[in-house]
Amino acid sequence: MDSSRMALPATGRSRSELEAELRPLLPDEVRGHWRRAFRGPPDVQAVGRQAYDWFQADNGLLSMRVEWLGRIETEVIEMASSLFNPPNDAAGNFTSGGSESIYCALHAMREWAREKYPHITAPEVVMPYSAHPSFSKGGHYFGLKIVRTALGPDRRASLTNLAEAITPNTIGVVASAPCWPFGAYDPVPAIAQLAQERGLWMHVDACVGGYLAPFVERLGVPLPAWDFRVPGVSSISADLHKYGYCPKPASTILWRSRALQRYHWVHPSDWPGGPYNMTGFAGTRTAGPIFAAWMVLQYLGQEGYLGLARHLLAMKERLIEGINGIGGLRAWRNDLMPLVFESTEVDLTVIKGELSRLGWAVVGCADPPLINIPLDAGTDQVMVERFLADLAEIVRQARRGKVSAGEALQY
Ligand SMILES: *Cc1c(COP(=O)(O)O)cnc(C)c1O
Repeated sequence: MDSSRMALPATGRSRSELEAELRPLLPDEVRGHWRRAFRGPPDVQAVGRQAYDWFQADNGLLSMRVEWLGRIETEVIEMASSLFNPPNDAAGNFTSGGSESIYCALHAMREWAREKYPHITAPEVVMPYSAHPSFSKGGHYFGLKIVRTALGPDRRASLTNLAEAITPNTIGVVASAPCWPFGAYDPVPAIAQLAQERGLWMHVDACVGGYLAPFVERLGVPLPAWDFRVPGVSSISADLHKYGYCPKPASTILWRSRALQRYHWVHPSDWPGGPYNMTGFAGTRTAGPIFAAWMVLQYLGQEGYLGLARHLLAMKERLIEGINGIGGLRAWRNDLMPLVFESTEVDLTVIKGELSRLGWAVVGCADPPLINIPLDAGTDQVMVERFLADLAEIVRQARRGKVSAGEALQY
């Protein structure tokens, strides 16, 4: 065997030796915070970790037939969907992340269309350019043609462009609330109306905003309507492991009705084991994240989430003010999150490279060129001030031409 590849050690190594090898890979508590973004403050992390620990060895695969597992999962879904103005008949499923929630939506949409429009053999789904790439992955997996349309001048989905992209093969349409690259809400009510007129499934991707928007709205920040209040919205994806502050992996896919959820289920029994009833794509899965989500949602309650939203908006404001004070940089006042900034004077690839070198985990946006900060409510004033000081120093050095290799602006 190639000697540069790691072989399983012939005998086990001591735990302390192994810990010593891994410990240097742990993040710095201040500069490394965003590497583990979307954890809440330390007390929230602690309750989530406890429940995760207690139940991580339990198999969530059994949740459709073991009472206590199913009950906790159902309660998580009910608490989650209660935030989105659900009709009485709304339903949902717990998933491993935004990508899986989106695959669930695309799969259900395809099954629904097979029944409703059996003549469509090459189904298409229309969405704005800014929709998450997991729609394209899902399209590939499920044999759906993904049609992305140019954004309007306000960088939101253009209703006209979406409408023009609809063909006799279109089965569904997607909007983001908001999109990840620059935090813009698509005009969900208008798109949902278009979907209703054309008889299409409408999915709203609220992965990043879902568990933040309801609380930001209560703080008086006006946001466009996006949830089940809007007639015509069939399904919503929302990530508990983003602004729900639940330990990864945790997301939700919510259905307007049980009738729509029916298209999600695949329950085979054509093997020796009899009926194989799983809640979604996964078979064996840890029950840890489900119990951790239950614990975090109950621990915080509406008041807790409201407090975190208030803190988050204050941190965002301070960062915007600080970034705009550096000179050569401009932070956007977008609809919600994430926080992004641009530069017309300094090479953003250099800034991103230098930030990474210092341990700050930020991502990029290629078109338009932006740096994207995964700001969360675990971010405190010390982190914000250190980040601004580091950023100002990087810009100063960059302007004097003292820079190392940059890093591509990509997610
Ligand atoms: C994060 C995100 C996703 C994908 O979620 P993962 O949990 O990374 O799979 C999808 N859509 C939007 C808008 C997101 O922000």
